[in-house]
Amino acid sequence: RHPIVALDGPAGAGKSTVTRRVAAALGLLYLDTGAMYRAVTWLMLDQGLDLADEPGVAEVLSQSEIRLEPGTLDPAAPWDLPPVRVWVNGQEVTAAIRTPEVTARVSRIAAQAAVRSALVQQQRRYGKTGGIVAEGRDIGTTVFPDAEVKIFLTASIQERARRRQQDLINQGQGTVDLGQLEAEIGERDRQDSSRSVSPLIKAPDALELLTDGLTIEAVTDRIVALYRD
Ligand code: C5P
Repeated sequence: RHPIVALDGPAGAGKSTVTRRVAAALGLLYLDTGAMYRAVTWLMLDQGLDLADEPGVAEVLSQSEIRLEPGTLDPAAPWDLPPVRVWVNGQEVTAAIRTPEVTARVSRIAAQAAVRSALVQQQRRYGKTGGIVAEGRDIGTTVFPDAEVKIFLTASIQERARRRQQDLINQGQGTVDLGQLEAEIGERDRQDSSRSVSPLIKAPDALELLTDGLTIEAVTDRIVALYRD
């Protein structure tokens, strides 16, 4: 069996960066499961589907292919794997799945049982191809309950809103009001935590890491050390 590191937690806790760095440090594959839920959301919006039409969503998904590909490694920053590239039915949607429209609607799609079971199956198949570091909301509870290392990464909502604001600035998307970001993040947490299928909760055997005031390096080193122990 291949080794698995599971990283779960709410939106904006720094999971993506930390997961990519841990994967690079350990020489494992990186699996961004949020990108898969985003890809499904993008597809349904693109098809003009009513997102509340669960049978319709399940039907379109069953006829579609979501593909993740590692991005190209930057030789100048080998400690930080690049974000994955995402394809839906042969069309690249790497940037399209990060728009505010998709972000605002993804929790509704992620609450649907048929969507979750299809994506969880695909995620488990990735786990058979090699050791992975997987990030999401239900990795330690549902996708890989036997993971060697389970981390629940979190931070205060103020800290998470600040980080999201910085990300948006870095991505050239301009400045968004902190209060608005806090409200959006809080709403997504609320939806992710209150859904009936695989809600966002800490696995009983996961280590909770509160990252307020910690650097990315410190959090990465801590997880790498846990894995190596
Ligand atoms: O991690 P990211 O913010 O890209 O995830 C987007 C959304 O996908 C989350 O808000 C959540 O609704 C959903 N998700 C999930 N289970 C996962 C990963 C993501 O429900 N394992």
